[in-house]
Amino acid sequence: MRTVLITGASRGIGAACAREFAEAGYQIAIHYHRSREQAEALCAELTENGCEAMTVQADVSDSAQVAAMVSAVGERFGFIDTLVNNAGIAMQKLFTDTTDDDWRRMMGTDLDGVFYCTRAVVPAMIREHRGVIVNIASMWGEVGASCEVAYSAAKAGVIGLTKALAKELGLSGIRVNAVSPGVVMTDMMKDFSDEDVAALKEETPLNTLGTPEDIAKAVVFLSSDNARYITGQVLGVNGGMII
Ligand code: NAP
Repeated sequence: MRTVLITGASRGIGAACAREFAEAGYQIAIHYHRSREQAEALCAELTENGCEAMTVQADVSDSAQVAAMVSAVGERFGFIDTLVNNAGIAMQKLFTDTTDDDWRRMMGTDLDGVFYCTRAVVPAMIREHRGVIVNIASMWGEVGASCEVAYSAAKAGVIGLTKALAKELGLSGIRVNAVSPGVVMTDMMKDFSDEDVAALKEETPLNTLGTPEDIAKAVVFLSSDNARYITGQVLGVNGGMII
């Protein structure tokens, strides 16, 4: 049975990924940072449905916590076939108001976190000559967003990491791809007004906003053998907003 470790699986897109991977027959390591209750409730739900699941806690911006997380998953499930780097934060702020702390917090979570988690799982993947990494980027990492410079820069970094690492690890039988969501209605969107959300919907060619499940289905596809010849790619799941 395959094992997937999904970071930030307590809520939103990560939780949808956990449910989708469970449907596909994986063992699931549900990572959370602060939302212990939600992670445990999700774990109980998946377990009741016959899935092998566990929860694991870490701040992804701390490399020692990430290393401990990956070894805890390894102890319970053995080899990690797929890593989904989903944990992330967003921030809407004028560039000129962005403090050193704002910048470090953003890079620490959204970019360093991807580096730490990936570096912790890759040695075993190289030994096994197989493995899949799926990074959750953002369309703003592709084209940039006003008042989201730090977020856009971190996600552009995730895209660069994805492409470079795919080249480095291809010969080791490991695929590395990114899913780049458009606007998806999760807690991350809670600071947007109804008018802003309506305007974003209007701007989307498919005239609808994304759901966490839309993203999760793309992640599970990229993790599957159906995507065996796909690596180094950034799959936009954005209703046509960025083409
Ligand atoms: P969300 O509902 O706000 O969930 C964020 C998740 O990240 C939570 O599980 C949270 O864990 C975890 N997290 C935050 N800081 C962390 C840290 N320091 N260490 C470990 N985990 C941490 O967000 P979402 O909308 O599902 O977003 C998931 C991913 O999709 C993010 O990378 C985001 O940038 C990307 N994305 C989202 C959208 C969108 O419109 N929603 C669009 C493009 C890209 P706890 O709750 O346990 O603390």
